[in-house]
This record gives sequence, C-alpha cells and structure tokens, in this order.
Amino acid sequence: MRYQRTIKREISLSGQGLHSGKEVSLTIKPAPRNSGIVFYRKDKDVSIKAHISNVADTAFATSISSRGVKVRTVEHFLSAVSGLGVDNLFVEITGSEMPALDGSAMGYVDKILEAGIAKQAEVISYIKVVKPLIYEDAHSRIMCLPYDGRKISFVIHYNHSLISKQELTILVDEKNFVSSIAPARTFGFLKEVKALQANGLALGGNLDNAIVIGEKDIMNPTGLRFKDEFVRHKILDCIGDFALAGCPVYGHFILEKSGHSSNIKFMTELLSTPECYTYYSPQNNYKTFNPALTLTPVFA
Ligand SMILES: [Zn+2]
Repeated sequence: MRYQRTIKREISLSGQGLHSGKEVSLTIKPAPRNSGIVFYRKDKDVSIKAHISNVADTAFATSISSRGVKVRTVEHFLSAVSGLGVDNLFVEITGSEMPALDGSAMGYVDKILEAGIAKQAEVISYIKVVKPLIYEDAHSRIMCLPYDGRKISFVIHYNHSLISKQELTILVDEKNFVSSIAPARTFGFLKEVKALQANGLALGGNLDNAIVIGEKDIMNPTGLRFKDEFVRHKILDCIGDFALAGCPVYGHFILEKSGHSSNIKFMTELLSTPECYTYYSPQNNYKTFNPALTLTPVFA
C-alpha cells in the first residue's frame, strides 16, 4: 500500500497536437489528495476529470469531455502519470489537444521527474482483479487475471514485414516504465497518412513525433529506439487508457491487437462487473466493497 503522490512544483511545457497540428501550452500543477487528474481548458473555463465516464472518443486517440468541451489525445500524458505513480494533478491547457512532444511519454516523464514527486498524507484507493474476465470484439481480445501488482502482456500482428508479430510481457513498476515503455513512440504507415489527413487526423504528425513506416523501411533517419518499439508503444497506450479507471488497477492484463476503443470498453466492462474485482479505499477503512460502478462512456 502506498501513499498518494503529486508533484513538488509547477511544470510548464508546450507543443503541437498530433492530430490537430495546433500549438498548445500546458501548466501542470500539484493538487491536493483525492483530487485525481483534472484537466482545465483555460480557453473555455471547463474542468474535465480524467475518468472513464468522461471518455468522448477513441478513434486514433483517447479524448475526454465535459459539457461539450474536449481534451484530445490524453493517453501518453496519463501513461506517464500512471507509470510514475502520480495520483493528483491539475492540468491547465490552452487548447483542445495534448502536445505530441516526441510521440512517446518521455517528455512528460522527464518534466515530472525534474519537478520531483511529493508524497501526500493519505494512502491510495485501488482496484484489484479477483476473478478472470475476458473481453472480445471483432478485432481484439483482452483478458485479466488476479495478480499481486500490475503486469501487462501484449501481442500485436500487422500485415507488414517491419512489424508482423511482436509480443512482450512486462511488470509495470516505475523503473521498468521509465526504461522500457515511456520512450516508445507512436507509429503510423506512410500509405495511410494521406487518408488520415483528409479526415482531419495526424495533421501535426511528422518524423519528430511519430515513427513513419514506409513500404520497406522506417522513414525516420534515426531508426527505432527498440527493436519491438511498436508493441512497447501499445503497452504505453494501454497504461494511459487504463489510468482512466481513476485509481491504480492491479492484475495481469493480457491483450491481443487491442487499441484505444477496446481498452476503454474492456475497462468499462471490468468496472461494471463487481464480482471480478475488489475496490479498496481508505475512506472505507480498507474494508472490501464493490461500489455500484455503472460507467458508460458517452462514445458509441
Ligand atoms: Zn499512443
């Protein structure tokens, strides 16, 4: 059992959104215990809690919204926060999409570590998987099993010789997250870039914030950071999406070909299946109980 954590001092950073291509500034501030991660759209004066019930869209990125106001592409930032075990933050943003930085979570990790992490005077609430659950849809399969800690196994298959099949199992603790997951960048296929841009997506995408996969080669002159960078990035995304549960979720998660939509649908199903988990909270003296979590994201 660990104490809740926030950052020691304010962080400022700015950059371009991957999909919108728009420049935004962020100010990340320490927040009191039990706040959770709360975004604040400064330009619209609207706060949006990082919670699965606020998920608005999962096409190519995870977006949350409140009162019709969105923050898009929150997953890499939430992955950094969850991977480092930071529970409470206020995140002021001047526009609608989180900055892509270098396409990984490393820019956020570096800034958070530079600011320092502060322990707060209350232990965390958390969810622990106690019974297996299997989620399946047309493209993906996700299973969770009871496990004392957080372990992720991920397998991807792509019909492209530079990826084909990659699989990795990792124990997600702070050290492994920083060294093996946070640096893995998002990726896209050169032949799909034009179609995405015609649909208003990937407008800010370039070789400095994404791996671009050509017919036979990686287009980025510096190549890959890991041989299996693609599956590592899928794990990074999954950690960010699962952070929308609102507290740490402990178990062994086994994912096949999953993306944002299935990650969120799986987590919604888990949280709506009380016999599969227990929720521990200091407010309840750590007596096990299952809150009636009826969490239906607003996206279809
Ligand atoms: Zn991603």
